[in-house]
Amino acid sequence: MSAVALALDLGGTKVESGLVTADGEILPGTRFRQPTGPSRSSDELAASVDAAARDALAALPPDAELLGVGIGAAGPIGVREGTVSPLNLAVWRGYPLRAQLESIVPDVPVTLRMDGLCITLAEHWRGAARGVDNVMGMIVSTGVGGGLILGGRTVAGASGNAGHIGHVEVAGFDDPCPCGGHGCLEAIASGPHTVAWARTRGFRGTTGEELAAAYAAGEEAAILAVRRSGLAIGRAIASATSLVDLEIVAIGGGFSHVTPELFDFIREPIAERVEFDYIRAVRVVPSGLSGDGPLLGAAALVHRSELVPSA
Ligand SMILES: [Zn+2]
Repeated sequence: MSAVALALDLGGTKVESGLVTADGEILPGTRFRQPTGPSRSSDELAASVDAAARDALAALPPDAELLGVGIGAAGPIGVREGTVSPLNLAVWRGYPLRAQLESIVPDVPVTLRMDGLCITLAEHWRGAARGVDNVMGMIVSTGVGGGLILGGRTVAGASGNAGHIGHVEVAGFDDPCPCGGHGCLEAIASGPHTVAWARTRGFRGTTGEELAAAYAAGEEAAILAVRRSGLAIGRAIASATSLVDLEIVAIGGGFSHVTPELFDFIREPIAERVEFDYIRAVRVVPSGLSGDGPLLGAAALVHRSELVPSA
């Protein structure tokens, strides 16, 4: 009999579900997806979560045991209350997502954490940070998210939102951010913001894919924009490392693939910290995860619960 976790990943455009084994494999035929998005009502979002969870549960093999439910959600969250307030799902503010799953699956523990923390757990379990105890996982995509493992255990913080690297302010930048900050990493270096900045320098495209093609073709505006975003990411990582002494930063998300040279640009400002060996020692590497990462990370809340202190 295999012991499985029900993993859920709630994002701004979809909610995904799957049954994940203790070896980190998604059982074939148990992965489902339902739409979310800012145009949906609260009831419609709840119905999507409900359908995704029940579809996966209905696929539970007769000889398998359900150990628990792990939920990774776009932040902010309320880790003690079990609530979510995803920035891009405005009808959900303080929505009791954990309680919804507890009502669907009443007999097993349900653990909710931020999606960035789940990605970091997945990197630590099955990705680029295996065997490393001081890790920041990062996603650079339409937004910039992250999470922390310090001393081999996840760090949730007082409210569950530790690791929000996208809203660390970066020296030398003052791009306004919807959160109220200025020069937040997300406002500089997300895919859409990098494209928008390139357009101010004459780039004519509108997507990250077009920016990647322009970079590869040697277009100056694209090169300047990617360098600028890499500089900001590198400065944010140097600051984060100065604060919490990271060993490795694993970066995934669509925009992290814009060019492999992005990682060289990220490493440059880190190398400038000449008097701090421990900052320059941080390794910045591409994510070792496939598209399964968010679900594996949510499942790790169950299968690797010893790394997840209770909130
Ligand atoms: Zn911000």
